Amino acid sequence: VEQILVAGGQAVGVRLHNGEVIKAPVVISNATLWDTYTKLLREEDLPPSYRQSALATPVVDSFMHLHLGIRAEGLEQLTGHHVVVQDANKDITEPGNTCMISIPSVWDRNLAPEGHHVIHVYSLESYAGWCRDQGYQEKKKLRSQPLLTALERVIPDIRERIVLELIGTPLTHAHYLRRYQGTYGPAIAAGKGLFPGPHTPIKDLYRVGDSTMPGIGVPAVAASGILCANSLRC
Ligand SMILES: Cc1cc2nc3c(=O)[nH]c(=O)nc-3n(C[C@H](O)[C@H](O)[C@H](O)COP(=O)(O)OP(=O)(O)OC[C@H]3O[C@@H](n4cnc5c(N)ncnc54)[C@H](O)[C@@H]3O)c2cc1C
Repeated sequence: VEQILVAGGQAVGVRLHNGEVIKAPVVISNATLWDTYTKLLREEDLPPSYRQSALATPVVDSFMHLHLGIRAEGLEQLTGHHVVVQDANKDITEPGNTCMISIPSVWDRNLAPEGHHVIHVYSLESYAGWCRDQGYQEKKKLRSQPLLTALERVIPDIRERIVLELIGTPLTHAHYLRRYQGTYGPAIAAGKGLFPGPHTPIKDLYRVGDSTMPGIGVPAVAASGILCANSLRC
């Protein structure tokens, strides 16, 4: 979708990147609030003060990702989920400190070629300072090191086992998931604010997903869809 079409203060459909226009009585955006309000709507479609305060919502960091294919021999006792906190004296949200490890081929052998495992490791990483310049490849390698170090706690000889290594940065996350700054979502702490509901100032335009009530996470975004569906029925 290139743009949500608004006429006379009312959402009337969407225009796709190929130019096709799809008319609709209701438009529901599942993109983040930043993507919806800056990319999918024109600035003049929203009341300035509403737009300004919505876009000022604090943003949770993005991520470093490490996707690996590894040789599996000798790892018969391996389990699939691990959380490694590298330094318990540091904030767990510090980039690279808390590393989440998933090895789904432990449970489903079809997810990797015979004799191999597939691994995903990720940790929080700020979007700021990342750009695809000459130093990008080197920085990717450097910033993925904490993920490998964390993985060494689970598989000590991990570096010798790697047959495929794909590193994702905040830029990768933003590009492939089409999320503003590759963010996890709005930084609205429990008890310190509420995620906005499905309504927008534009008639017949609703929002769902992880920048709406009740918040981030698969169960929460499913609930946001239910909330929106019930709003439409009223
Ligand atoms: C690394 C990581 C680990 C996580 N782990 C967990 C977990 O263990 N448990 C849990 O519950 N949650 C977890 N989450 C959170 C959860 O994945 C998200 O909150 C949830 O998937 C968000 O769903 P969504 O539909 O709101 O947004 P998204 O999944 O981001 O969907 C929005 C969609 O809109 C599309 N889009 C954007 N712009 C356009 C456009 N212009 N035209 C067409 N399409 C567009 C995007 O491509 C995307 O597919 C995790 C998130 C991350 C990043």
